[in-house]
Amino acid sequence: MDLGIKGKRGLVCAASKGLGRGCAEALAEAGVDLVINSRTEDDVTRTAQEISRKYNVSVTPVAADITTDEGRAKVLAAASGVDILVTNAGGPPPGMWTDWTRDDFIRAIDANMLSAIALMQALVPTMMDRGWGRVVNITSQSVRSPIAVLGLSNTARAGLTGFVAGMARQVADKGVCVNNLLPGIHATDRADSLDSAVAQKEGISIEQARQNRMAAIPAKAYGQPEDFGATCAFLCSQHARFIIGQNILLDGGALNVTI
Ligand code: NAP
Repeated sequence: MDLGIKGKRGLVCAASKGLGRGCAEALAEAGVDLVINSRTEDDVTRTAQEISRKYNVSVTPVAADITTDEGRAKVLAAASGVDILVTNAGGPPPGMWTDWTRDDFIRAIDANMLSAIALMQALVPTMMDRGWGRVVNITSQSVRSPIAVLGLSNTARAGLTGFVAGMARQVADKGVCVNNLLPGIHATDRADSLDSAVAQKEGISIEQARQNRMAAIPAKAYGQPEDFGATCAFLCSQHARFIIGQNILLDGGALNVTI
């Protein structure tokens, strides 16, 4: 399917690996010129070169922490006026609700709520002026079904979801579609670190922890960043113009709900 976005410009945050990289690859395959970001200079530079070579699009790497004001300023200097924005950042660590301090909450809210909002505030007005834009926020299945040990994530991402629910409907008549993609468990470094935390806690191998988690997923597998990326690219396509303010769950059926 031609997604109709060849020649557009996009920013994908936290994209040297994992789900962000999956989104960057799928957009590049559709012909989108990109700015990609992550903190580790070597990784983001190498990923940009690989994607650029593979899909013959321009990919500009920016090494910066997207959760800080300075990091975002650096990214926005390279990405002003983009047509497509994919927000993403690393997830907060697991823990126990009794232990989290105000500082822990502020860090999580900065990373997984306010940084996405700041990027939308910086980039969506130009999209509205131009009459076309797409925003995809990578959030989590925990927005619909809480994961108790990831309470910091549950909290911050619920806040972002509430913001998007209102804001997406305020910009839709200007041709800007804002939606959230909710990953269930996907085979990335993040999944490895969650599985090793379980393995350590339960005294089992990481492979056993992975098998146990998979057994609870109707698809009996982890999601792949490529499939996640393809869904993101569709939400950024011309065909998605009537999809507004939605929360699209990609979880292999893990969430046991009717709708
Ligand atoms: P990942 O494999 O660990 O990749 C994280 C990517 O983000 C890396 O490129 C990393 O590079 C970059 N990054 C992390 N923190 C950053 C920051 N502050 N500023 C800029 N770049 C940053 O993670 P993932 O699995 O793709 O997850 C992406 C998001 O989806 C996370 O918020 C995660 O919590 C959420 N999620 C993932 C799953 C899953 O199963 N994978 C499920 C639900 C939700 P550097 O370290 O070099 O910066």
